[in-house]
Formats: sequence, C-alpha cells, structure tokens
Amino acid sequence: MKIYHLNCLQIESAFGPAIGHCLLLRDDSGLTLIDSGIGLAETQEPEKRLGKELIEITGFILKEEYTAIRQIQKLGYDPKEVKNIVCSHFDPDHIGGLADFPDATIHVSQEEYTCFKSANERYLPQQLSHLPEMRCYENNDSEFFGLSARKLDLDFESYLIPLFGHTLGHCGVAFINDGKWTFYVGDAYYLREEVNNRSHPVDQLATIRAMNNELRIKSLDSVRKVIADYGNEITCFGYHDPAEFYHEQPLG
Ligand SMILES: [Zn+2]
Repeated sequence: MKIYHLNCLQIESAFGPAIGHCLLLRDDSGLTLIDSGIGLAETQEPEKRLGKELIEITGFILKEEYTAIRQIQKLGYDPKEVKNIVCSHFDPDHIGGLADFPDATIHVSQEEYTCFKSANERYLPQQLSHLPEMRCYENNDSEFFGLSARKLDLDFESYLIPLFGHTLGHCGVAFINDGKWTFYVGDAYYLREEVNNRSHPVDQLATIRAMNNELRIKSLDSVRKVIADYGNEITCFGYHDPAEFYHEQPLG
C-alpha cells in the first residue's frame, strides 16, 4: 500500500498556522481517504458554503490547491478511484471535501453520525447534503495497543479508535502497512506539544471546543500513554499540527 500525506487545509489561528493533515491510501482496491479537509465548492463560494462568521472565527485560508480532489488529480489519480473515506469526526474543517467524492462510502462512528444529525450548531448539514453512503460503527470489537477499537470494513486491516470528547463520536484511525502501524489521532490534540505539556495555551481552545471536556482529557491521556509505551513502533500524528506534517519533529 502506498501512503500519501496531504495537507488539505490552511488556518491562520491565534496559535499560529494550522493545517489539515489528511491521508490518501492507495492499494489494489483503489483509493481511501482519511479525513478530507476543505471542498472545492467551499473554495469557490466560501460564504455560501461555510458562512462568513465561521471563516472569520476559524481563520480558514480557502485555496483550490489545498483540496484533496486537486491534489489527487495532481498525483495522477482519477478522483473516482476514491471508494472509501474514513472520518475522525464531522467538524466542518474535516468533511468539506466529502462532496467532491460523491460515490465514496463514508466510514464513521455511529455516535458521531447521530450527533451530526442532532442539529448541533457546530456542524454544517450541507456538507453531507449529497447523501453519501454511510457505514457507521458502534461496537468495540477489537483492541489496539490497550485501547478499544472498532474494525473498519475495508480491504486492509484498519480500525476506528474511540477518542471521544472533542465531539461525542470523535475517533482516531489506525491501520497497518508492511508490519508498521499508523495511528492518526484526529483532533485528540491540536499540537503535538500538548502530549508533553499539560498546560499548553492551546488547551484552552481545545477545552472550549470540546463537547465533553472530561472525556477529551481522558482520550488525550490514552493517546499520551500509547505514545509513551509504543511511540517507537507506531507512527502517530494529529490533524492540525504543521510541525508533524513537515516532519519538523519525528512522526514516530
Ligand atoms: Zn479540526
């Protein structure tokens, strides 16, 4: 399997630049995306698709070149080859790109889909208005380095790892390739520095954005433990940290 790291979002935040670290996996069955960044329509009609307020609050920089679809085309693939998209959660900065792959099946926790449908104002219903096929997971049927896991219905060994709190169904995604595990933690932390610095200033933002902060801290603690115990064996990274993406610090 070939693994591409794509940055599908640029954010200018009070804490400096942030990104949208997505993964594109290529195997015999086609292409799988993990999270999707911003979508093409959002770069073309940002205020209509996202709203002026959201763009101003978040500091999104909306450029076509950041979209997954344009990057996939640039790599020489047909976007129609994207058969599956695994989502950590349904916040707007993670699922804008879904509409660019209308035939792909979306894989997500049942809790997150239920939460999205509950009309909570943090979500944008129009991002799923193309009505993609949904594959929702609710049973912890597996284990991943001591964490509960849900086996994904994909052609390669992969799991959703419940890391609830940021949203009520937020999950990490883990998969194995050539004997080496990758553990994508989504928004379990915003910056890798939070793993070792419990009073990092960005924790305030994470607290405000958490739907259940107690659960978020518990989830972050379980990520801390996996990194402390197995950091040498597992490639671990989150969605928003540019330092991880640009390999300013090792992903191991
Ligand atoms: Zn996010």
